[in-house]
Amino acid sequence: MQGWIEDIHARARTRLGSGHVASYIPALARQDPERLGIAVCTNAGELYAAGDAEIPFSIQSIAKVLLLTLALRTHGEGLWERVGLNPSGMPFNSLAQLEAERGKPRNPFINAGAIVVTDRLVSAFATPPKHLRDVARRLSGNDAILIDDGVLASEWQHRSRNAAAAYLMKAFGNLDNEVDEVLHTYFSCCALAMSCKDLAIALSFLAAGGQAQAMDERFVSPGLTRRINSIMSTCGLYDAAGDFAYRVGLPAKSGVGGGIVAVVPGRMTICAWSPALDESGNSVAAQYALELFAEEFDQMPPSG
Ligand code: GLN
Repeated sequence: MQGWIEDIHARARTRLGSGHVASYIPALARQDPERLGIAVCTNAGELYAAGDAEIPFSIQSIAKVLLLTLALRTHGEGLWERVGLNPSGMPFNSLAQLEAERGKPRNPFINAGAIVVTDRLVSAFATPPKHLRDVARRLSGNDAILIDDGVLASEWQHRSRNAAAAYLMKAFGNLDNEVDEVLHTYFSCCALAMSCKDLAIALSFLAAGGQAQAMDERFVSPGLTRRINSIMSTCGLYDAAGDFAYRVGLPAKSGVGGGIVAVVPGRMTICAWSPALDESGNSVAAQYALELFAEEFDQMPPSG
C-alpha cells in the first residue's frame, strides 16, 4: 500500500499549477500551492502517507463533518427541523435559496447549514470552540492540534457573507444564540489546523461504523455513521458533488484550505491536501489524487 500511495502522489503532482489558492480569506492566500499530501488510515489501524502529509493546514469546511457529528450526538433527529438534507446545487456560500426557503438551509455542508448546526452546539456546550478543539485532539490522538488564530482573525474580518446568512436565519427564528457567538465558534472550528494524517485518523470512525481509531471507543453508532457518509456523498463537494460522485464515488468532504477527506466504508479513510482550488472551491490535485485512488482501488490486496 505504501508504494501505491506514493505512486498516486507522484501522478497527482502533475496537477499542481492548476487552480487558485483561496483568497477571500486572506490568511489562506499565503498557502504554498505546490504542497500535496496524502494519508490513509485503515480500519486495522495502519497509516500510510506520502508528500506533505504531516503539515498542518486549515481544515475549513471539513470541520462541518465534526460539527454535524457532534450536533447529531447532542440533538439527535431534532436537528433536521433546523436544516435540510438535500444538495443545494449552489456555491457553498450562496444566499439565494435561504430567503426563499425561509431561513432553513438546504444541508449541513453549505455554510448556512453549518452555521445553524453550530448554533445547536453553542446551546449545548459551555465553551464550544475549546470543546471542538478537544474533540479534534482526542479523535486524532494529537494533543498539539490548535486553532490557527491568524486564520480565525482573517475569517472574522471578512465575515460579511457568513454574517448575512446568519442574520437572515436569525430573522427567520432559526438561530437561538447571538450571531457573533455562533460565527466565532464556526470560524474557530474552520480554523483548526490539522495535517492529512491527523484528519485521516480523526475521521476514521466514518469508515469503521463509528469506532474511533485513536479513542479506542465507539464515537457514534453505525447507523449515524452511515447517515453522515450519505450526506457527504450527496452534499460534501457542494455544487460539484455530482461530478465528484461520478469520478470518485466515495463519501467525501472538502474545504477551501485544499483538504478533502474521503471514506471507504468498512475499509479506510483517506485525506488528500493541496491548496489550489477549482471554481467550486475544491482542491484540484486532491480531487485528482482521490480519483486515481478510486480507479486503482480494485487492484488493492483485500487485506489493505
Ligand atoms: N470557513 C469557510 C467559510 O465559511 C469555509 C468554506 C469552505 O471551506 N468551503 O467561508
